[in-house]
Amino acid sequence: MSFSHLGLSDKVVSAVEASGYKTPTPIQEQAIPHVLARRDVLGIAQTGTGKTAAFVLPMLTMLEKGRARARMPRTLILEPTRELAAQVVEAFEKYGANHKLNVALIIGGVSFGDQDVKLTRGVDVLIATPGRLLDHSERGRLLLSGVELLIIDEADRMLDMGFIPDIERIGKLVPFTRQTLFFTATMPSEIQRIADNFLHNPVRVEVSKPATAATTITQGQVATGRDAADKRDTLRRLLRSADNFKNAIIFCNRKREVALLHKSLVSHGFNAVALHGDLDQSARTAALEAFRKGDAKLLIASDVAARGLDIPAVSHVFNFDVPHHPDDYVHRIGRTGRAGLTGTAITLVAPIDVKSVGAIEKLMGMPIPWMGEPAAAAGAVTEESPRGERKPGERPPRKDQHAERAPRERGPRRERSPRNERPPQGERAPQGDRPAQGERPPQSERPAQPRQEQPRAAKPAPRPEARPPVRPRQEPMDDADGSHLPAFLLRPVTIKA
Ligand code: AMP
Repeated sequence: MSFSHLGLSDKVVSAVEASGYKTPTPIQEQAIPHVLARRDVLGIAQTGTGKTAAFVLPMLTMLEKGRARARMPRTLILEPTRELAAQVVEAFEKYGANHKLNVALIIGGVSFGDQDVKLTRGVDVLIATPGRLLDHSERGRLLLSGVELLIIDEADRMLDMGFIPDIERIGKLVPFTRQTLFFTATMPSEIQRIADNFLHNPVRVEVSKPATAATTITQGQVATGRDAADKRDTLRRLLRSADNFKNAIIFCNRKREVALLHKSLVSHGFNAVALHGDLDQSARTAALEAFRKGDAKLLIASDVAARGLDIPAVSHVFNFDVPHHPDDYVHRIGRTGRAGLTGTAITLVAPIDVKSVGAIEKLMGMPIPWMGEPAAAAGAVTEESPRGERKPGERPPRKDQHAERAPRERGPRRERSPRNERPPQGERAPQGDRPAQGERPPQSERPAQPRQEQPRAAKPAPRPEARPPVRPRQEPMDDADGSHLPAFLLRPVTIKA
């Protein structure tokens, strides 16, 4: 099967061929003819399957007829993050090289005015994150009543990020008679409900997950202490001793940890960039570019910022934090070992993480081998180690801990005590590690009313407080030097079953 057999226009086929693609991927082969036949499509596919081209190519063909009117886009693509939205724009530039279409990107973090000017000129393809799109619509600067084709991409990610109420509102602003394409990697019941609402008699197209844990990725877990400084130490050791290292993405669970780890690695001489939602758009774009080009060897990222990004040929993935959701583990390690290349995915596991790793192993149906000694599960009965012999994952006694660290690692309180954490002025993350406009925190981190959490341009709403992580009982209270803590608080506690 070649692209010329799918019903695409000659202009589109020649642009695809010029991109070097000869054969459609399964999602392209199955979806494109139905899109061109104006059917609604439910596409169950992950990034990496070629799903972007599965909607961009037929859109280009369909948009060859007709013209855009001011403030009334003809097609609308909704993406959960700015980076994904920007990637779709790139796809239009690549495959639409032979077309003269107006493509507009409406995302948070950049000027309203420029976006408004573009909308006024008339837009064939509007690519947007939900929050900023609604801002324009509420200001009366955008009419969605001319939308002929609506695409909801990464719907399950939209759900994770709390965008579903926005998506439902947008659904009421577009015409009932439009065509809808709906893409999701997974199909939880809430997504099924939204799909049922949005789609009319859809064709269901499902492609299997790209090889994740299977053949190309070597996985491992490495025991570490729970303390952030211990973890940084372990990570540096792993980075310095990694085999076949080319470049790596290092995942953290929180934006604040991304920023701290980035600073720490740079200060230790690593060539690293950071990607998280509190960075402004130009910093995010510059970080991605530097990593893609190979100017930076390490990309430290949060899940929200990195989800779905197309970064080919990553040799290593490190999980600095074990992800909250087992699904995220699969997405993270899927950043390496792509397109038949081999890759390595290593997870740092503190005693408190052992249970979460168990959930990941259950989801994948396979164990993640330990590299070195396993970590003792938190809450398990601990034995005193002989003097000077620390078990993997066990926290060292206070005084030794300081003696072991390099001076800058000894660090201010903020590096080691999430509860009392207070980064210096100017560096402080917004409360609750709030993502920027167009992004929201994962479900586990957000309050019940997502819309309130996302202040619109002129009316800032109260921000949710970050919930401090639950501290296990055997961990003594972190403080500046620990010297005044009573000794009994430093002893491991045996927890009865
Ligand atoms: P996506 O799933 O849309 O993020 O696409 C993943 C990667 O596959 C991107 O780098 C695309 O450029 C690439 N790609 C898309 N279509 C094809 C194709 N037919 N053959 C080979 N690679 C493709």
